[in-house]
Amino acid sequence: MGGRPRRPVRPLIVQAMEAECAPVRDALSIGGPGQQLHPAFPARLWERGDVAIAVNGVDPRFGVDSIGGQPAVTTTLHAIESARPDLVISAGTAGGFAAKGAEIGSVYLADRCVFHDRRIAIAGFDRYGVGDYPMAELHETVGKLGFDRGTVSTGNALDAPAVDLATMAATAVVAKDMEAASVAWVCERMEVPFAALKVVTDLIDGPEPTAQQFTRNLKAATEMLATSVAALVGLAISEL
Ligand code: SAH
Repeated sequence: MGGRPRRPVRPLIVQAMEAECAPVRDALSIGGPGQQLHPAFPARLWERGDVAIAVNGVDPRFGVDSIGGQPAVTTTLHAIESARPDLVISAGTAGGFAAKGAEIGSVYLADRCVFHDRRIAIAGFDRYGVGDYPMAELHETVGKLGFDRGTVSTGNALDAPAVDLATMAATAVVAKDMEAASVAWVCERMEVPFAALKVVTDLIDGPEPTAQQFTRNLKAATEMLATSVAALVGLAISEL
């Protein structure tokens, strides 16, 4: 954040699941089927002039949303090449920590983005594993949207074994997802500023299994996500 002059920004929102993306498209009044980004991948892109939105799509073999790191990378690369955005926002659901004040529906705007499951105990590769990608310098007016800030950490599992929890504790993680750092890596290489906005569907340190919480809270949380993305995009278009 800084005191530099405001300028309009054309954001691209990158999402993993159709259930996360549909409410966001509704909130931004974007209709239609979108366009397939690449013949070999199910990802789709919608454009509205001042904003673009991409979703990973349904895996043709497994019949479920293509969640996780690999689709996040291909979707982000193809969508950046097609939409030429000047800001990418990884938007989606995440696990939060009750011990850090998270509740179902809490919204976090990342101020740091790392991986927690790329354990490579070899000098140099250790830091490569964590990533710690550059974050967009958002204008200070983003503060008026009232999002909590903190580290978002990415891994390829929905659960959180002790070894991952220890890594997350060391980097003061507030939200755990499966895509943000993969999107951030592509953005770093492509030199597009990166931001991540995550809504909590499940509490990692709660008593109930993550998958159960996720399924129960998905609808309410994604409605919260849609409102939050629309507010951030509105600000981006006018004054980030
Ligand atoms: N059962 C679901 C799969 C949910 S996977 C289905 O219908 O396909 C979880 C997705 O939500 C990922 O895209 C991830 O980014 C996010 N997510 C939500 N809670 C998470 C958590 N606790 N840990 C990791 N990712 C989480």
